Amino acid sequence: KSKDLKGYAPICLGLEDFYTRRLYLRIQDCFGRPIASAPDSKIDVVERFSTDNNKTLQRTTNTTSCINLGSYNYLGFAAADEYCTPLVIESLKKYSPSTCSVRVDSGTTKLHAEAEELVARFVGKPAAITFGMGYVTNSAIIPVLMRKGGLIISDTLNHNSIVNGARASGATIRVFQHNSPSHLEEVLREQIAEGQPRTHRPWKKIIVVVEGIYSMEGELCNLPEIIAVCKKYKAYTYLDEAHSIGAIGKTGRGVCELLGVDPADVDIMMGTFTKSFGSCGGYIAASKEIIQYLKYTCPAHIYATSMSPPAVQQVISSIKVILGEDGSNRGALKLSHIRENSNFFRSELKKMGFEVLGDNDSPVMPIMLYNPAKIPAFSRECLRQNVAIVTVAFPATPLLLARARICISASHTREDLIKSLEVISRVGDLVGIKYFPVENEKA
Ligand code: PMP
Repeated sequence: KSKDLKGYAPICLGLEDFYTRRLYLRIQDCFGRPIASAPDSKIDVVERFSTDNNKTLQRTTNTTSCINLGSYNYLGFAAADEYCTPLVIESLKKYSPSTCSVRVDSGTTKLHAEAEELVARFVGKPAAITFGMGYVTNSAIIPVLMRKGGLIISDTLNHNSIVNGARASGATIRVFQHNSPSHLEEVLREQIAEGQPRTHRPWKKIIVVVEGIYSMEGELCNLPEIIAVCKKYKAYTYLDEAHSIGAIGKTGRGVCELLGVDPADVDIMMGTFTKSFGSCGGYIAASKEIIQYLKYTCPAHIYATSMSPPAVQQVISSIKVILGEDGSNRGALKLSHIRENSNFFRSELKKMGFEVLGDNDSPVMPIMLYNPAKIPAFSRECLRQNVAIVTVAFPATPLLLARARICISASHTREDLIKSLEVISRVGDLVGIKYFPVENEKA
């Protein structure tokens, strides 16, 4: 399907079936297990089997405590928090877990209104709208913004929720090479005759969709350059900040803040509450007119039950901590912790000879395994040594680009990180994934 796999397609089609049907079952066997704790710096993983004295396998519900390098708990809010948790419990008692209604009936609580104002202020846009699920935010909003006669230009590595939203819209879809402003320009040039005034071009509307941090690459978007191309060709920009909002930038305001982009230059800012804020749901932040339009027209706003009130309270409280509006400096400390932790971990992994993707400051850190057969070996062995790491492979990545994807949190202590590095290094030797010379051998 992808340009990169051209020529390999027939082989891959066979392998696709093999790996998804067989290997995936084995991967699930080593990782996709129930968790019996909050997704904090440590998690309790439920064991599937244990052996008795006769070495026969028994089903069990015992748990093992592991260092958690697998959850998107970037700022550590997905655990009991001295400011957030009491407020969330209070909101649960006051509002119950569900509004039992859609937004336009009686599903808009005071909390929903407060959260939308706060999110808009936090990301630097005039207005915002929230949804019960991050995935749905992309897959339901893109078809409202775009339709037949429009053109969506999407980064090749955009998340599945964007791909599905684009497909559902009926607009024409073109992809540009991952994070490449020059290829984006090439695609735009192909689609619009250069110099044509906006009203005469063939498309009703053109929107370019990118992510702040790419979830499988850990890479920051080349946002300033991409925005410059969009401005030149008068295309709208749609930025998914699922992994970047709250996690990067001096005050947690994501990739715009880190790369010095004015949020006014991004037309649609999308994000999720499931990562840095330790909650559920997603948002779109944009001009008042766009948000008003979405409120009137988006089926996911009109027909779906609104976000759970305790989840909304968690969003409000965690953003207040990030902004220092809880009266403490914990937000600033969390932000400096995640930066230091990410940069320390990435540089140590590189010194050990691993091929690590992603940019500095990014808490998403893929270690390349390449060969899909190394996935279960790596994952299982790390788990056996009490480090829980998620491995990702086809179809989330191209077939032969399997990787382990580490997510760093502000709640990891230096001790957690050092212990994890020791385990990853040992398992890396065992599985044979140190593709570069270790640092002291380089000299
Ligand atoms: N966008 C991106 C870039 C993502 O990585 C994800 C999921 N990790 C989503 C959207 C969907 O968000 P959620 O998991 O909160 O539904």
